[in-house]
Amino acid sequence: MTKSSSSRQVGDVKGSGFQPDRSELVRTPRDLDSLALDYSKRPPELEFLRISLRQKLPPDILVMHDKLVAGGKRSIAPRFANACTECSGEVTVAGGAKRLAGMFVQCPHCGTLLYG
Ligand SMILES: [Zn+2]
Repeated sequence: MTKSSSSRQVGDVKGSGFQPDRSELVRTPRDLDSLALDYSKRPPELEFLRISLRQKLPPDILVMHDKLVAGGKRSIAPRFANACTECSGEVTVAGGAKRLAGMFVQCPHCGTLLYG
Protein backbone atom coordinates (compact mmCIF):
# COMPACT_ATOMS: atom_id res chain seq x y z
CA MET A 1 0.00 0.00 0.00
CA THR A 2 1.88 2.99 -1.25
CA LYS A 3 -1.13 5.01 -2.27
CA SER A 4 -1.10 8.08 -0.11
CA SER A 5 -3.00 10.96 -1.58
CA SER A 6 -0.49 13.47 -0.31
CA SER A 7 -0.27 15.84 -3.25
CA ARG A 8 -3.41 17.46 -4.52
CA GLN A 9 -1.90 19.25 -7.49
CA VAL A 10 -4.49 18.35 -10.06
CA GLY A 11 -5.29 21.02 -12.61
CA ASP A 12 -1.76 22.33 -12.81
CA VAL A 13 -2.10 23.10 -16.51
CA LYS A 14 0.31 25.51 -18.07
CA GLY A 15 -1.85 27.94 -19.95
CA SER A 16 0.35 28.87 -22.88
CA GLY A 17 0.96 25.54 -24.60
CA PHE A 18 -2.61 24.33 -24.37
CA GLN A 19 -4.39 23.84 -27.67
CA PRO A 20 -8.15 23.36 -27.87
CA ASP A 21 -7.92 20.44 -30.29
CA ARG A 22 -5.99 18.48 -27.68
CA SER A 23 -8.95 18.56 -25.34
CA GLU A 24 -11.12 17.50 -28.24
CA LEU A 25 -8.79 14.57 -28.89
CA VAL A 26 -9.46 13.45 -25.35
CA ARG A 27 -13.16 14.18 -25.34
CA THR A 28 -14.04 12.63 -28.68
CA PRO A 29 -12.86 9.06 -28.03
CA ARG A 30 -14.44 9.30 -24.60
CA ASP A 31 -17.77 10.24 -26.11
CA LEU A 32 -17.38 7.37 -28.55
CA ASP A 33 -16.62 5.03 -25.66
CA SER A 34 -19.85 5.92 -23.92
CA LEU A 35 -21.74 5.55 -27.17
CA ALA A 36 -20.19 2.12 -27.61
CA LEU A 37 -21.88 1.04 -24.41
CA ASP A 38 -25.21 1.51 -26.15
CA TYR A 39 -23.94 -0.08 -29.28
CA SER A 40 -26.46 -2.92 -29.21
CA LYS A 41 -29.37 -0.50 -29.41
CA ARG A 42 -28.02 1.83 -32.08
CA PRO A 43 -30.77 4.39 -32.45
CA PRO A 44 -30.30 6.41 -35.66
CA GLU A 45 -29.57 9.67 -33.85
CA LEU A 46 -26.78 8.08 -31.86
CA GLU A 47 -25.40 6.49 -34.97
CA PHE A 48 -25.28 9.91 -36.61
CA LEU A 49 -23.48 11.34 -33.60
CA ARG A 50 -21.07 8.44 -33.62
CA ILE A 51 -20.16 8.98 -37.24
CA SER A 52 -19.64 12.70 -36.81
CA LEU A 53 -17.42 12.08 -33.78
CA ARG A 54 -15.38 9.54 -35.69
CA GLN A 55 -14.65 12.10 -38.37
CA LYS A 56 -12.85 14.23 -35.83
CA LEU A 57 -10.31 11.58 -34.98
CA PRO A 58 -7.07 10.84 -36.80
CA PRO A 59 -7.26 7.47 -38.62
CA ASP A 60 -4.54 5.81 -36.53
CA ILE A 61 -6.37 6.69 -33.32
CA LEU A 62 -9.62 5.48 -34.80
CA VAL A 63 -8.14 2.09 -35.68
CA MET A 64 -6.94 1.59 -32.12
CA HIS A 65 -10.19 2.86 -30.70
CA ASP A 66 -12.13 0.31 -32.75
CA LYS A 67 -9.88 -2.52 -31.62
CA LEU A 68 -10.24 -1.66 -27.96
CA VAL A 69 -13.97 -1.07 -28.10
CA ALA A 70 -14.43 -4.35 -29.96
CA GLY A 71 -12.71 -6.00 -27.00
CA GLY A 72 -15.19 -4.37 -24.65
CA LYS A 73 -12.73 -1.84 -23.29
CA ARG A 74 -12.56 1.87 -23.05
CA SER A 75 -10.23 3.30 -25.66
CA ILE A 76 -8.60 6.11 -23.74
CA ALA A 77 -7.71 6.82 -20.15
CA PRO A 78 -5.47 9.23 -18.32
CA ARG A 79 -1.97 8.21 -17.33
CA PHE A 80 -1.29 9.06 -13.73
CA ALA A 81 1.95 8.80 -11.76
CA ASN A 82 3.53 6.69 -14.52
CA ALA A 83 0.70 4.18 -14.41
CA CYS A 84 -2.19 3.31 -16.66
CA THR A 85 -5.42 4.19 -14.87
CA GLU A 86 -7.22 1.46 -16.80
CA CYS A 87 -5.10 -1.55 -15.79
CA SER A 88 -2.77 -0.01 -13.18
CA GLY A 89 0.25 -1.23 -15.15
CA GLU A 90 3.40 0.84 -15.09
CA VAL A 91 3.78 3.13 -18.09
CA THR A 92 6.83 5.29 -18.22
CA VAL A 93 7.26 7.64 -21.14
CA ALA A 94 10.62 9.04 -22.15
CA GLY A 95 10.76 12.76 -22.72
CA GLY A 96 11.34 12.47 -26.44
CA ALA A 97 9.01 9.55 -26.99
CA LYS A 98 6.76 9.67 -30.02
CA ARG A 99 3.14 10.20 -29.16
CA LEU A 100 0.17 9.19 -31.26
CA ALA A 101 -1.62 12.24 -32.61
CA GLY A 102 0.93 14.22 -30.64
CA MET A 103 -0.43 13.24 -27.26
CA PHE A 104 -1.24 9.57 -26.72
CA VAL A 105 0.93 6.67 -25.70
CA GLN A 106 -0.39 3.15 -25.86
CA CYS A 107 -0.34 1.16 -22.65
CA PRO A 108 1.97 -1.85 -23.21
CA HIS A 109 -0.16 -3.92 -20.85
CA CYS A 110 -3.76 -3.39 -21.92
CA GLY A 111 -3.41 -1.34 -25.11
CA THR A 112 -5.43 1.64 -23.87
CA LEU A 113 -4.48 4.99 -25.31
CA LEU A 114 -3.15 7.09 -22.49
CA TYR A 115 -2.89 10.82 -22.23
CA GLY A 116 -1.09 12.86 -19.65
ZN1 LIG B 1 -3.09 -0.38 -19.22
